[in-house]
Parts: sequence; structure tokens; C-alpha cells
Amino acid sequence: MRAPQRLVLASNNAGKLREFGALLAPLGFDVVPQRELGIPEAEEPHVTFVENALAKARHASRLSGLPALADDSGISVDALGGAPGVYSARYAQLAGKEKSDAANNAHLIAELAGQANRRAHYYCVLVLVRHADDPCPIIAEGRWDGEVVDTPRGDGGFGYDPYFLLPALGKTAAELSAEEKNRVSHRALALQALCERLRRDAAAPTAPTAAHGQP
Ligand code: IMP
Repeated sequence: MRAPQRLVLASNNAGKLREFGALLAPLGFDVVPQRELGIPEAEEPHVTFVENALAKARHASRLSGLPALADDSGISVDALGGAPGVYSARYAQLAGKEKSDAANNAHLIAELAGQANRRAHYYCVLVLVRHADDPCPIIAEGRWDGEVVDTPRGDGGFGYDPYFLLPALGKTAAELSAEEKNRVSHRALALQALCERLRRDAAAPTAPTAAHGQP
């Protein structure tokens, strides 16, 4: 049996490390956070999630010489042309307000005042590069549809969750248990898609290897 392939995670978020590490270990990956290798966070200058995730993965791979995985996520609201999108974490700050979940939510609700169309989705993209200049990165995405409501409900989750209603469940994302959210969220769907793709590649007659140049 082959030794696990080290894979740098272009994030230092402990929750993501746990989740990604657990799902990728059976596929032969040993997931290491970039901080452990002394890699600083990359810039995220782009206007699309996939470009930012790709930039983060390339950066981590270039500095480590290892395959790298990065994610990017946020909420996209139909009536706002997809905003806040890649600016989800800094939505209020970019409007001159404080940087906090509460300020982001207040800003979002203000922007949607009088707007009947409340459709929104959370989006997550995962990008895995086998090496920094990999011309064929593996890209997996997950989308979780809902509606933005004016009155918050629930105290689970984080970010926009108390305002993100899942009409089919009659609950906001903040009213779901952590286990429930981790089964159905945009991040869960993206991770499932990534794992399926890695399993398919591993089973292919000429399986692409995780490491550059490895036979
Ligand atoms: P990151 O990609 O994990 O850094 O997330 C970027 C931002 O998107 C977060 O700071 C939140 O504002 C928002 N976001 C992403 N995923 C979620 C989620 O599951 N619930 C609530 N907000 C989220």
C-alpha cells in the first residue's frame, strides 16, 4: 500500500482541517494546514470564488512543493446581482461599517429593503492542484439554495446563517444542528463532489497521481 500523500490545505481554519482531513484520509491524503509549513495566507484579489481558490491553492503548492487544496465560499443574492459573493466576509466593512457578522447581516437586510425577490444561495468551491502550475486543477463546487429573511432565527452556525431560510425545511441554517448542516451545506456538497472525483480518478485505468511527476 502506498504511503499517504501529503496535501497542503490553504487555510488554517481548524474546523475545515478536521472535516477535510477526515474525508480525504481514506483516499490516501494526509492533510497539513499551510501554517504548519510556514506558508502565509495568499491574497484573494479576484471577483470569482474559483479564481480566489485557485490563487490560494497555487500559492500553497508553490511554497510547499506539494499538492494543495483551497476553498472559497460565500453567499450570493439574486436581487443584488450575486453580491456579496466573494466579499461576504467583508460586506459591511466595504460599505464603511465594522467587520462583523452582525454588521454584514444588517447591511444585507438594508440592501434588500422593499425587495420581493429573496432568493439566495451559499456557494463553495474547492480547488486541488497537483503542483503549482497544474494545467488541469480538480474543481468541485457545492450550492445550497435558500432565501434571505428579515428576522433572524436560531443560534447555530455562523455568518449569514440566522437569516438564511431553507424553505423545504422551514428552518434557517442557524436552526440546524451542526451534523445536519454538515450533511447538506454548500461545503458538504463540494467536499462530496471532490471525493467522488478523486475516487473516480483513482479507479481509472491510468489513474492520475496526486503528486507531480510521481509514477
Ligand atoms: P470562507 O470562505 O470560509 O472564508 O467564508 C467567507 C464568508 O462567507 C464567511 O465569512 C461568511 O460571511 C460567508 N459564509 C461562507 N460559508 C458560510 C456558512 O456556511 N454560513 C454562513 N456564512 C458563510
